[in-house]
Amino acid sequence: MAFPIKTCVVCGEEFELRPDKPGFANRCPECSTPEAMEAGDKPGLSPEERKAQSEVNEARRRAMRDLLYRKDS
Ligand SMILES: [Zn+2]
Repeated sequence: MAFPIKTCVVCGEEFELRPDKPGFANRCPECSTPEAMEAGDKPGLSPEERKAQSEVNEARRRAMRDLLYRKDS
């Protein structure tokens, strides 16, 4: 029997959402480890990399918002 395929909100990887999967339902197993949850991001990133990634995420959020607003106007 197949499990539903979810996309991890942290790393964007697809994963099977198993009933016994620990952590959040919207995070893949790698991003559900205590260390990953504490860091709030991929483990092993330097502060610079983390900052760069949050800027990328921010840009992505802004682009998404622009798309949503454009639909209204
Ligand atoms: Zn992940």
